[in-house]
Amino acid sequence: MNSKTVKASSFMTKTKLGGNDFTCNPYIGCTHGCVYCYAKTIERNHPQSSWGEYVDIKQYPNTSIPKGTGSKSLFFSSMTDCYQPIEKVTESTKKILESIQDSVLHISILTKSDLILRDIEVLKKIMYLEVGFSISLSDKDASIFEKGATLPSNRIKALKALKTAGISTHVFISPIIPFITNPFKIIDEVKNHVDYVMFDTLNLSNDENKARFYEILKLYYPEQFTKIIHVMNHVDILYYKKLKKDIESYCDLNHLLIKYIYR
Ligand code: SF4
Repeated sequence: MNSKTVKASSFMTKTKLGGNDFTCNPYIGCTHGCVYCYAKTIERNHPQSSWGEYVDIKQYPNTSIPKGTGSKSLFFSSMTDCYQPIEKVTESTKKILESIQDSVLHISILTKSDLILRDIEVLKKIMYLEVGFSISLSDKDASIFEKGATLPSNRIKALKALKTAGISTHVFISPIIPFITNPFKIIDEVKNHVDYVMFDTLNLSNDENKARFYEILKLYYPEQFTKIIHVMNHVDILYYKKLKKDIESYCDLNHLLIKYIYR
């Protein structure tokens, strides 16, 4: 794995993403290496290395909250996973959280790692906090598409531990990969441990990303390949529409709040 330290001016960056005011990305790159990751199509710091094979560690002059920030929202992380394996060694995310634990920022963390449990005592001190896990695959499928991340079954165990500790939690069922993701099974597994759920479709933003994804499908899912491509290329326009209706009915039946679902 390639890694270096890079200087960054502030740990908080203004954003318009998902209704948040600021994001915090303590790393550049992500060794979870998800095949479908959108960040890899934007991040260009290591043109010679493949996504998942490098991670740069940001170094900040300080972790003071900018003046006038008050109770704005801060999202960890939009372009990396702040609890990817290198965090075990650097503790970059932990140090940032410790420095802002007494603030009134509305903090939201989204991860695919159970390493977050290491910081449970810090998390419990934060006044406005919610933790989400991205889960959209079985353990078997995740070991193909999300090779470097914690297995989904262990993410669910971490989710339970956080909820039991009194922390607000949610699950982001995304990306829903047609004919592979089973959102109903995931809902069943997480419904008693979350405050709400969110859903999104698979969105491969560029051709390079698409080509890699297709390669994996051909190799591991030859029988579903054509069906999946039809949905992704909008030949089958009803798949996601029907699924959305079914998901809404199922969440309704289970008294589970949906905070976001794709259109
Ligand atoms: S965990 Fe998130 S940032 Fe990291 S590779 Fe996967 S999708 Fe990308």
